[in-house]
Amino acid sequence: MGIEAVERLIGSLYNEMEDELGELLGSYFSSADLPRYARTNVTRRSSIGYSANVGLAAGKGLENAFDEITSEAEAFLRDVYAESYVSASEDVENEIEMKNRFRKSALDFGGFFDKLAKERKRMYITVTGLARDMFLNPDNIASSFDLLRTEFLVSRNRVNNILRGEEVSFKAIGVLHACEADGIEWYRFLAEKDRKTCRECEARDGKIYLVKGAEVGGDLPPVHYGCRCRIEPSDGKDYMDKPDTPLYEYTEEMVGNIFEIDSKFEDEVKKFAEAYEKNKSVYEEIAKKAGVPPELIAIIHHRENTPDFLNGTFNVYLHNGEKLGTPTKLVPVGKDFNDFIEAAIDAMKDEKAYIDRYNLWLGSDDIIAMMAFAEVYNGLGYYNNNRVSPYLYSGTNVYTSGKYVEEFDENDNRVSKYYNDLVDDQVGVYLLLKSILK
Ligand SMILES: [Zn+2]
Repeated sequence: MGIEAVERLIGSLYNEMEDELGELLGSYFSSADLPRYARTNVTRRSSIGYSANVGLAAGKGLENAFDEITSEAEAFLRDVYAESYVSASEDVENEIEMKNRFRKSALDFGGFFDKLAKERKRMYITVTGLARDMFLNPDNIASSFDLLRTEFLVSRNRVNNILRGEEVSFKAIGVLHACEADGIEWYRFLAEKDRKTCRECEARDGKIYLVKGAEVGGDLPPVHYGCRCRIEPSDGKDYMDKPDTPLYEYTEEMVGNIFEIDSKFEDEVKKFAEAYEKNKSVYEEIAKKAGVPPELIAIIHHRENTPDFLNGTFNVYLHNGEKLGTPTKLVPVGKDFNDFIEAAIDAMKDEKAYIDRYNLWLGSDDIIAMMAFAEVYNGLGYYNNNRVSPYLYSGTNVYTSGKYVEEFDENDNRVSKYYNDLVDDQVGVYLLLKSILK
């Protein structure tokens, strides 16, 4: 059964409700005495009593219809889930048998039932109120019926939208469960691309996310109301095309020219790799939330505050290496965090555009992309002035000398000054990344 069939069902149930209500009210009004009571209001008590009955009867009809919608929709969603599971599964021997099995899976319908119950409650109040009102004010009956019809139409759309959202969600969960069963670690997010696609979904299109811990509303569709996106299993390797930017191209060329490593940084690199190994879980936690590889967080931490990195104290802003606990004074000014992980996630959030531009994701192992990102993160002073950045290449043959130094000018303003002969005594990102990337 497709969603069209469910839509038809919802439509016919609502029509039925409308008809039933019409009949119900008609029978009350055609009975010889009742209209007189209602119109003249002579015995007000009994007319209120009748109106309450009309309201109750209308409410009962509505509830029955909602029960029917709920059970039909549940069956529909079970089908969606089973189809989706089987189509994503690697291990399909008997498709029909499998679909039948997954239709019976224990699924969480909690959110869906809650939404329907809310709509049912809302409609109950509206319909019973209107029905009572029609009885008490028979002169307005035509306009009341119009109002009722409108309410039915609105409610019908609302129920349809709830169901569409659930369809998207059960489709995604089906794929997710198939991935879990097959031991697939990643899924790829696919946006429905047309002129209705929102920026949020467009930005996720083609991206890879971790199966473990995936949540509807997080990176699992629907990510917002009306989302039509879906997911597919991914081995994590078939990521998007290489980033198409001049900086990426330049970095690729530079790395291609590296053929000699300076042994004087051996010890520093070793210490870096050891500290990373020891505190990996912290970087992995940030990486997971920020959607970037953990290695990238580590090199930034190392560069922003080397002692804090090596000692594993985690007491600095990843933004700029300042101590946590008081608002930052250096750029970006005014960040206020006490926790390394929270601050780091915030720092990465600020770089979202570049994370996207360099196609970085949790599992990426593209050293060129990470280096290009690191160069942007550090500032493009070298790149824009055709100078080799020690931040990236120190310790390799492509860097010999030259370094920007932060100084104060005669007006006490902070300025960056380039010294041609100065040689950086810190190891560059390339060698650090090499030591920890698999
Ligand atoms: Zn979407």
